Amino acid sequence: MNKSVRKAIIAGNWKMNKARPEAKELLEAIKPLVANAEGKVEVIACVPFTNLETAISVTDGSNVKIGAENVHFEKSGAFTGEISADMLVELGVEYVVIGHSERRQYFGETDETVNKRTKAALAAGLKPIVCVGELLWERECNITEEVIARQIKLDLFDVSKEDVKKTVIAYEPVWAIGTGKTATADQAEEVCGFIRSTLAKIYDQATADAVTIQYGGSMNAGNAAELLSKPNVDGGLIGGASLKAADFNTIVQAAVEG
Ligand code: PEP
Repeated sequence: MNKSVRKAIIAGNWKMNKARPEAKELLEAIKPLVANAEGKVEVIACVPFTNLETAISVTDGSNVKIGAENVHFEKSGAFTGEISADMLVELGVEYVVIGHSERRQYFGETDETVNKRTKAALAAGLKPIVCVGELLWERECNITEEVIARQIKLDLFDVSKEDVKKTVIAYEPVWAIGTGKTATADQAEEVCGFIRSTLAKIYDQATADAVTIQYGGSMNAGNAAELLSKPNVDGGLIGGASLKAADFNTIVQAAVEG
């Protein structure tokens, strides 16, 4: 299937970085650089909750979309410190990162809560970016495919065919996140292709072919073009390199050309 029929998506994951004035400055710098990607590559900045309102207002009228970095699965109630999907939608947020390995590692996220958050996001009209990926030890034990298949099945349990087409999957090998160790383009392609074949088994081939699958893990200005040239790598989820306008733009331009 022709990769170009899927939406190419480059998303920055800012993590716990940037106060509001810095967020404004970074987005003001990114906007003109990536304007030519409109209609070719979806460009997203996933920012801390405290930056969402600023980010939405700064990017208004541009082709930069704004995402949150997490969402709770309940609609409202006694969940101190949490943010609901409806609250994000009301602000104008379009995307949300769910199940990032840092959430799984430090905040007790499980495939069950990732699944609940994914369904809550979709029900509210948000587009989830669902992160999956194996630990280094799991790769060394040769169980990468088992780990990924399990995450895909559990994280997307009960998500309809229509909804999965609105869902972005980010393949992020945990050993490559923030470590400077990138999966080779062949490793990224192998697992992204495996994710697509798993989706085809759960849904059908046409549905699997419509889902955008990103690679994430130390993607940067130097390695993006090769990673994005692979047939099953439809985009990137970018941490560190998304905090520098020029580097982020180089990755976006690689996707425009890829
Ligand atoms: C991420 O936060 O999803 C990520 C891939 O980080 P980095 O690009 O810094 O490895």
